[in-house]
Formats: sequence, C-alpha cells, structure tokens
Amino acid sequence: MEKKDIKSLTLAELKAETASLGEKPFRAVQLYEWMHRKLSRSFAEMTNIPLAMKEKCGENYHYTALRTVTVQESSIDGTKKYLFALPDGNMVESVWMRYKHGNSVCISSQVGCRMGCRFCASTLDGLVRNLTASEMLDQIYAITLETGERVSHVVVMGSGEPLDNYENLLRFITLLTDENGLHVSQRNVTVSTCGIVPMMRELAQEKLQITLALSLHAATDEKRRELMPIANRYTLEELMDCCSYYFEQTGRRITFEYSLVRNVNDTRKDAETLAALIRGLNCHVNLIPVNPVKERDYVQSGRQAVEAFAALLAKKGINATVRREMGRDIDGACGQLRRRFLDNSSAILCKMDESCLHE
Ligand code: SAH
Repeated sequence: MEKKDIKSLTLAELKAETASLGEKPFRAVQLYEWMHRKLSRSFAEMTNIPLAMKEKCGENYHYTALRTVTVQESSIDGTKKYLFALPDGNMVESVWMRYKHGNSVCISSQVGCRMGCRFCASTLDGLVRNLTASEMLDQIYAITLETGERVSHVVVMGSGEPLDNYENLLRFITLLTDENGLHVSQRNVTVSTCGIVPMMRELAQEKLQITLALSLHAATDEKRRELMPIANRYTLEELMDCCSYYFEQTGRRITFEYSLVRNVNDTRKDAETLAALIRGLNCHVNLIPVNPVKERDYVQSGRQAVEAFAALLAKKGINATVRREMGRDIDGACGQLRRRFLDNSSAILCKMDESCLHE
C-alpha cells in the first residue's frame, strides 16, 4: 500500500491518523507544529517526539521535502528564482519577491501544464503531473527557511493550471491559511487561472476570501483563441458571466491579467474592446509586457504602447496597473528556468552560486 503523504493532512485528519497508531491527540498537534510552523524537513528533526513514534511515522507516512537545485538572485531588484527537485526527481520553480507590503512567493501548482497557451514556456512539454498540497507548501517552506523571512503573500501563478489540480489546490489553501500553520491571510493568496469556467464556479461556491486572477490576454474570442486553446472551450461571454458570479458569491474583486504582445493585442482598438468587455465588472487589470520565450516569436510591446493602453483604460474608468517586471535578468517568466535546466543543465550549473546547492 502506498504511504500517505503526512504533510498534506489537516490537523483533524492527523488526529485521526495518530489515534489509529495508538498515540494521544497531543502528538498530532506536535507533529503538525513541526511540519507547518517549524518547517521541519524530516521526522528526525522532531526532538520532542519519541524515537519509536518517529519510526512508526516513517513506516506509515511519506514526508515530502524539496531539494534546492539552483537559486538565482536578480541584481536589479533582489527577486530570487528557485529551482527545486521534487522527491521523484521532477523539477518545479518558484519565485520570491520583496515588496513594500511584505514578501511574496509565486509557486507552481503542476509539473508542466496542459493548457497550451502559446506564449508560455511551462506548457511546451505538456503536463507531467499534479503537485500535491504538501509539494505546493514545501516551495513556501523551503524559501522561508532559506531567506529567514516570513512570507506574507502567496500567488499561485507559476507553472501549471491550479484549477486543473483543484482538490490539491483547496487542501493547499486550507493548510497555508490555517492558524496552526503559517497562517497566511486568505486575502493575501491569489490564484491565477486561464479560465476553466466550471471550476471557477466551484471555487466561487467555496466562498474563500482569496483573489481570483483570470488570464484574459485578449478581448475578442477570435484573438483569445489564437493565444489560448482554452478559449475554444469557453467563450468570453461565459467567462464574464462567471466573473460576475464569482464576485456575487465572494464579494472579491476579480483581477484580469493581460500580457501585452506587440501588434497582437496591444493596439488602441484592443484597449477599447477590452474596456467595453469588462465595463461594469468590479475588477482590476494587470498589464504585463509579455516575456519573450525563446521557442516562440512573440515580441514585447514597447513602453509607449503599454502606457497608451493603460491610459486608455484609465480614461474609461478602469482600474489598471502595469506590472513591474521583477527578475527580468533571471528567467522570471513561468517555466523558463526549468526549461533551460532541462535543455542544458551544464550551462546553468556554471552560472549558479555553489553556496546555493543543498544536497
Ligand atoms: N495557468 C494559470 C497560472 C500560471 S501562468 C494561468 O493561466 O493564469 C501565470 C500568468 O503568467 C498567466 O497570466 C499567464 O498567461 C502569464 N504568462 C505565461 N507566460 C508568460 C509570458 N511569457 N509573458 C507574460 N506572461 C506570461
């Protein structure tokens, strides 16, 4: 029988597990604290747990921990990009950013992705597998340990489509925001989706206080289909209805992400169509100059086009910000670091700082 993944269990589930091992409930509380507060990397570190119980745990449960393969630090803004190896040897990447309002971590939710967005590096080799809740948490835990600083904000905007890994995502949010764990505020958690309508509706019904970000990238179905295969499944009309529903259910303003690609979706006409599409919705628009990916020939919009686009939205009364590009010098965009590593591991190994290697 496959061992259960102990770090993905809620405290209530863990209490039931320890009872089945013949242990007292306070042992579950201790285990939970070691895993989710002290961010312990193995049972061996848990000094107030008797050796016999640690052995029993080792026999019955799988304990996930990531191995840091590389850390790259931006010399522009201090952003750090981590490449982690999972227990099965697959790799995921995460990004740590320092803002005035606190430290933010961007995590991956899957190894690879099957959504196929044309400008995205994560999807080039398709989906390898879903991450477990513990593997999503581990990215934040490893970074907290490495930086020695509290993570206050989490964005699920790395590789993968979080709503394509729904059960694990919900479990992850429960554990991350639990008062017995890191206790990150739900309001500081953002989940970004390419727009899987039925799953967005399910998420709305959870009535969480998280922010939902929708990757829009185009304001007509025709253009969106060119950039995102998911647009063949759900129309913009369905998506906009779904966004209104999300707001009704949760009271949370939707964020629209719009990556600006030169001469593809960045003209005045595009901005006008976008403004008309989202008028009346309680929302915020994040404009992101597209990050060029070497396998694709999309070109970033020029500064002037970006500013004109933002100004037009503002004139129409739409709340929009141009996302500051963080970590531009360190393969900041989704899936780029993992790809480069898979492409040419020797090249990147030469670039990295030896002290970042934790064996
Ligand atoms: N699958 C989810 C989350 C991961 S992608 C989603 O689609 O939202 C996070 C965001 O980065 C999405 O808005 C995605 O469209 C965008 N993105 C991916 N590759 C990019 C690139 N090369 N340049 C700019 N934005 C990119």
